[in-house]
Amino acid sequence: MILSAAPLWACAAQPGAYPLASYDNVRQRRAITETLEDISEYFGVTFHEVCVSQTLFQGQADVLRGELTLGLRFLSFYAGRVDGTASLVVLLAHESAHLFQQVSGWFDGHVGASPTLRCIELHADFLAGGYARRYYEARNGPVTEGALTQFFSDTHGPSIFYGFGNLNNRTTALRGGPSERFEAFAHGFDMDPAIPAQDRDKGWSQINAGLNCA
Ligand SMILES: [Zn+2]
Repeated sequence: MILSAAPLWACAAQPGAYPLASYDNVRQRRAITETLEDISEYFGVTFHEVCVSQTLFQGQADVLRGELTLGLRFLSFYAGRVDGTASLVVLLAHESAHLFQQVSGWFDGHVGASPTLRCIELHADFLAGGYARRYYEARNGPVTEGALTQFFSDTHGPSIFYGFGNLNNRTTALRGGPSERFEAFAHGFDMDPAIPAQDRDKGWSQINAGLNCA
């Protein structure tokens, strides 16, 4: 008899969700696991459980349970695309940034009394940009001109910000428009990679007024 390693309550927050270990795309599953390990090191936070949901669109971090849920539709859409790896890295870094915001106390101290969801999202994109640079440099060496374009490595550019649920008005108002999301991400990517996630407030304060998040 084989006992499941996952506790019974794992992935129970989302209907129709199951542990990543049961996801049948082995290549993508390995990429997710390895990238999350590296992201954990970067942010100093780790999700207790990673789940796959058949109904969720992109991804969702339950920061109180420490549970990350990835949408099957997102994974399937990007599974065979040239920009699939970059999009997956950005999503995993963005969701991990939410856990970092919670654990590091950023929610309490850094965006005023009541940060809007939109600014929380843009700040997560900003932090994700910092991780993306680490990911890029580990594979390509130090960043030079055009590195961000190369990171997304396809002619469509950073499609994760410009498509797939980001282009309707409701999403834009709630989470930030595609161009401002990309701006926040690119600013994080452009910062000195030696500055750890914990010390990136100065970089955020350079752009938060322009993003109307100061
Ligand atoms: Zn988010």
